[in-house]
Amino acid sequence: MADRMYDVCIIGAGMWGSAAAYHTCLVPDTKVCLIGPEEPTSSQEFNSRAIHGAYYDEVRVTRTNMGSVICSELSKRSHEGFDKLEKNTGISFYTECNNVNFGPVKSQYITDCKRTSELLQTEHVLLTGDQLTQKFPYLNMALTLGSNIECILQLSKCGLVNPRKLVAAQKTAADLHGCDIFNTTVDQITEKYHTPSVGKILEVVTEDGQIIRSRKVLICTGVFTLSKPLLPSHLLPDMKLVPTQTLRIELSKENVDNMRDMPSICSFTREDNQRDGYICPPVIYPDGKTYLKIGHGRLRYLKSEEVAEWYRSDGDPEVTEKLMGMMKRFFPGLIPISTHTDTCAVTVTRTDMPYVDMVTPEIGVAIGDNGGGAKFCYEIGRMAAKMIAKGCWDYDLPAREFEVRFKEPKQ
Ligand SMILES: Cc1cc2nc3c(=O)[nH]c(=O)nc-3n(C[C@H](O)[C@H](O)[C@H](O)COP(=O)(O)OP(=O)(O)OC[C@H]3O[C@@H](n4cnc5c(N)ncnc54)[C@H](O)[C@@H]3O)c2cc1C
Repeated sequence: MADRMYDVCIIGAGMWGSAAAYHTCLVPDTKVCLIGPEEPTSSQEFNSRAIHGAYYDEVRVTRTNMGSVICSELSKRSHEGFDKLEKNTGISFYTECNNVNFGPVKSQYITDCKRTSELLQTEHVLLTGDQLTQKFPYLNMALTLGSNIECILQLSKCGLVNPRKLVAAQKTAADLHGCDIFNTTVDQITEKYHTPSVGKILEVVTEDGQIIRSRKVLICTGVFTLSKPLLPSHLLPDMKLVPTQTLRIELSKENVDNMRDMPSICSFTREDNQRDGYICPPVIYPDGKTYLKIGHGRLRYLKSEEVAEWYRSDGDPEVTEKLMGMMKRFFPGLIPISTHTDTCAVTVTRTDMPYVDMVTPEIGVAIGDNGGGAKFCYEIGRMAAKMIAKGCWDYDLPAREFEVRFKEPKQ
């Protein structure tokens, strides 16, 4: 298999790469491979890893009421794609669940979310903090935040995905359409001239010594994009790496029973209109226990070489304490049985939009999730697949929205 030549090689078998692999396989006469390590399942394996995915746990929120109309549209299209994917692969990863966004009355973000909800005709209701608490009595928003908040409760086309199962479904769909999948890490990519009739080809060298040849390469390596020499050194995407951590709270049966109708929650009370936190409703984890999960927004940045260590750390105790404080204020009746901290990282682009672009005539990227790329992974994969197969933009939304910005060369 290692000597085979591919039309498209996709690097990074996470949420975007596995979607791109599936969609590229649908392009006629295109031989595709997907290279990337599977996520570890044991802590021992996790701690020995230098490369991680951002889809390691059990729940991601999907919604179509974001500030960005384009990202919401991609999310809406992905929602339809998720449905097809579940039917075609028999792997179920999606659960319907309402979503609530809240922030100060008339804040820019909430105003933008309302506009998006109207433009995309999303089924939603507007509520005050008091009305939200009346609807979900275990959730004390008004008491916590005062009366100066407004909420958008999305009632359909939103839910929760299990990210590991979603990746498994996308890889299964790719495999069913002839994709070769390599469970390994790429160390570098080099350009070679083959013969005049074949032209330039790329040699993708893996850490276990395989050399995989391809006419084109699509890089979907998330937070670890700059950790290996995958791109020419003068064409490095301008993106920052943000450490994140989540607090999982094991719930009592009584709490679980009370919270059955809980929506996912996204809070936007920061003055810069960035998300300051989100809460996922109770979800059963592989240990059979039910957890409520809270995460935070952008707090600081990491250097590329610090990311792997951050993943293996226990996170920042001060942040854990703040997250616990928020949970106790939002849910006055919460009785935690146990708590767990998980660390992860996300990317932030200069444009706050994903970078889906050709970097050279043969190499494309689909990177830059800005912390929320699970909800539209299916459609980003389709957009990137069409681009890499054709070698240029081939999607019905404007290319400029997804244009990659490069780091300034060092003097
Ligand atoms: C804690 C947390 C909570 C989140 N919650 C939400 C949410 O509720 N809703 C939402 O929409 N989004 C959420 N996100 C964001 C979402 O998970 C990411 O946007 C999504 O995973 C991005 O997909 P990706 O393919 O770009 O990156 P990933 O899913 O991380 O995939 C990248 C893949 O590339 C592989 N890779 C890296 N380097 C190499 C290499 N050299 N060779 C081969 N493979 C390589 C990695 O192993 C990985 O599998 C959350 C993220 C985190 C961390």
